[in-house]
This record gives sequence, structure tokens and C-alpha cells, in this order.
Amino acid sequence: MSTLINPTTGVELDSSPASASLEDADTAIARAHDAFPAWRDVAPGERARLLRAFAAVIDEHLEELAQLEVLNAGHTIGNARWEAGNVRDCLNYYSAAPERLFGRQIPVAGGTDVTFHEPLGVVGIIVPWNFPMPIAAWGFAPALAAGNTVVLKPAELTPLTAIRIGELALVAGLPEGVLNVIPGKGSVVGERFVTHPLVRKVCFTGSTGVGKQIMAGCADQVKRVTLELGGKSANIVFADTDVAAAAASAPYAVFDNAGQDCCARSRILVQRSAYDEFVGRLQTAVTDFRVLDPADERSEMGPMVSAAQRDTVQRYLDDATVAFTGSAPDGPGWWLPPTVVESTDTSEPVWREEVFGPVVAVMPFDDEDEAVALANDSDYGLSGSIFTTDIGRALRVARRVEAGNLSVNSHSSVRYWTPFGGYKQSGLGRELGPDAPNAFTEEKNVFIAH
Ligand code: NAP
Ligand code: MG
Repeated sequence: MSTLINPTTGVELDSSPASASLEDADTAIARAHDAFPAWRDVAPGERARLLRAFAAVIDEHLEELAQLEVLNAGHTIGNARWEAGNVRDCLNYYSAAPERLFGRQIPVAGGTDVTFHEPLGVVGIIVPWNFPMPIAAWGFAPALAAGNTVVLKPAELTPLTAIRIGELALVAGLPEGVLNVIPGKGSVVGERFVTHPLVRKVCFTGSTGVGKQIMAGCADQVKRVTLELGGKSANIVFADTDVAAAAASAPYAVFDNAGQDCCARSRILVQRSAYDEFVGRLQTAVTDFRVLDPADERSEMGPMVSAAQRDTVQRYLDDATVAFTGSAPDGPGWWLPPTVVESTDTSEPVWREEVFGPVVAVMPFDDEDEAVALANDSDYGLSGSIFTTDIGRALRVARRVEAGNLSVNSHSSVRYWTPFGGYKQSGLGRELGPDAPNAFTEEKNVFIAH
């Protein structure tokens, strides 16, 4: 394995886990397959109890997990605590699922017809580096609740919290082989999830390019696949709103996690009559945005995850006209300041492409139709925000924007109890919410003749 580096300091970490080989991946998949029948047959109430025990152990280790993420990924300590807590909360939420995996009884002639939700078997979860803990849990919590076993590949850059969570599963009493964490390369371990016939579903979160390859690879075995890919989400600000409040909240919607967030509202559309006021207030908010050592409790943004990711973002900025920036620490580590670009051309890369860094592009619009057209002029469709005091307009626009997750007069983050996923090239399928366990099952229909 390539050595892990603390993104805040640029210094190598002590612990770099060994990178799994193809044989290691096959061994782990076989272990998960062997563990499946017994896990499937654990009584619903007992599986529920084990998931709650797992949640409790995560909670006992919340600070340890959070500190590990600060070290490995440069997340602010406040965010990292939320992320570890999100793993706990997902487990608690889906611990209710084993006892509620309801089928239906459907009226038929000459007999009784019932449906069952049966687990798939081994589920492969491929996790990116931007939210290592939550994205892992959004996959494994409902998958385990539905009676599947899991092989999980963390991103090469950020494996440490996933490895620890795998150990904590055993501490909580989950049987060996039920949740298997396999750190390794995407091209080796991740790819093996796609090609191995005993892996029955792949949940992938990451770039749209790799997602397309995974979908194509899964086609060979008609393997189930869920994709959570990129985004270029719009924050639409109408002039009738509280412009000061909209401008004050906009930086949090894009610069959180240094912009390395698939839901980042990285395009801001502002109605022309409010544009100058909005941009002026945005500049104040960006100047005040606290980019500090992520271990500092006051920090609102830390470094980028890697030198390579910082360089990728810097290349977008080299080609764009920057209006203003906030601040960032000097010295070592992969820092970039929050950066605002005023766009006039929708073909500019910084307007069209997922930059995945602390960069936002702002553009004026004239009316509702133009706002919707600009928002929808994207291959992506993950999330978005609408600021207006007109409830009719809020609902009209929310219905017309082609995106899976919209918030009105807010920038809601992902909630584990509501469905999450993208339109268009932002993904396929939905995660989270009350129906997520069903996505890890086959629906079986049984007719019993009278
Ligand atoms: P990526 O290559 O898509 O990586 C995501 C995950 O997929 C990682 O675990 C990666 O493993 C694995 N992977 C890579 N190639 C694979 C393959 N051929 N088969 C199976 N698994 C494979 O993303 P990235 O390179 O880290 O980031 C590039 C860009 O993707 C970012 O700049 C951003 O635009 C986007 N991104 C989006 C999200 C999101 O949440 N939507 C998250 C991360 C990145 P390795 O760690 O070994 O590469
Ligand atoms: Mg990659």
C-alpha cells in the first residue's frame, strides 16, 4: 500500500495497512459467502439486537473514530464527530428493519399469494475518500439488516476508520465473516467485487467515470448495482428571499469538507435584481469562513485530502477568473482557500464539471424559467437548494429541477431516514430512507393452491 499522509501536515502516518491482493479479496469474499447462511437465519429480533450492540460500540469509540478521520482525511473535528455519530445512527435506524422486512399478501383466485424479501448473499460496497465513515454505513447498515453479509473496500487514501469499524463489529458480537473490510486498490479489490460471481450486488460511490465502468462490468452477470456518483448542484436564490441569510449560508453548502462533497452546491444562481447585494454579502461570509487546522474545534474547513486532489482543483482555477477568495493556512499540507468565480459562460469547465474542491461559481438569472433551465443544464442531478419566500414558487421549482435531493430555504445534508440518490449521471438507485433494506433483497412471490 502507498503510505498514508496526514493532509494537514503532509507528514506520513505511522500506520499504513497492507494492500489486499486479488487472492486476499477472493478469501474475504469466500469468508463472507460462508458466513451468509447463518447470518440470514439469525432470528430477526436477535439480528436487531446485534445491530444495536454494534451502534453502541461505535458510540463508545466515537471520539477515537473522529480523531482518526481528522488524521487520515483532514476532516474538521466537528464534522468527524458527526460522521462517526452518523454510523451509529444508521445502525440504530436499520436495526428496526429485520423485524419489519414485510412482504405482502395479494388476493388471487384459488389460493393464497404472499411475497417475501430475501437477502441477496454477499454485497460489495466500494467507498470513496470524501466521507469514509457515513458512506460505508449507508451501505452496510441496511445490507446487514436485510440479512446479507458484506465485503467493504475503503478508498486507498482513507482506509483507517473503516478498518477500525470492522474490528468494532466483532467487539459488538457480529459473527466473523459478516462484515469484512478489505483495504486495497480499486483496480484490484473493487474490480473483483464486480467480476466475482459470489458478490451479488455492488454499491459504488465515487466518480461518474468509474461508476460507468462498474455498471458495464456488472452487466456481464446481471449483477445488482447502486451508483452514487458526482454532482454539480445549483443553489437558486430568488430576489424575494432574505438575501443576507442566503448569502451567509451559501459557503457552508459548498465549502464544507473543503468542497469534497457530491452534494456541494457548487453553482449559485442569483436573480439579477439581488445579484450585487448577494455577491457583496457572500464576500463577507467567505472572508469570515474559518479555514483552520481541522483538529481546532473552531475550524469550519480543513485541507484537501491529497496533493493530487489539490492539484486537480488548482488546474480549474488556473483557467478561471477568480472574483475573490477566503484564507487558508500557509505552510505544509494540502490547503486551498475557499474560492469564488463569477461565471458568464455555461461552457466553462468550472461551471460544468464537478471540481470537488472549495470552489463555487456564481451566475445571475432573470426569471424562474431561466433559473430552472440553467440548473438543469447539467449531466448531473444530485441535489440543490431553492431560496424564496413564495411557497408556490418553491414547490414549482422543486418539482422542475431534475435532482434527487432538494431543500427549500436550507441546505439540508443527507438524512439517513430519507431517500438519497441522483437523477441523470449522478447515479442509479436510491440509498437510505425506510426502503433501503429492500434494495438489498430479492422480492419472491409464492402462490399456495388451496
Ligand atoms: P474513484 O476513482 O471513483 O474512487 C472511488 C472508489 O472506487 C475508491 O474506493 C476507488 O479505489 C474505487 N475504484 C477506483 N477504480 C475502480 C475500479 N476500476 N473498479 C472498482 N473500484 C474502483 O474516485 P477518485 O479517483 O478517488 O476521485 C476522483 C473524482 O471522483 C473526484 O475528483 C470527484 O470528482 C469524484 N468523486 C465523487 C465522489 C462522490 O461522492 N460522488 C466521491 C469521491 C470522488 P481507490 O481508492 O483504490 O482508487
Ligand atoms: Mg480514481
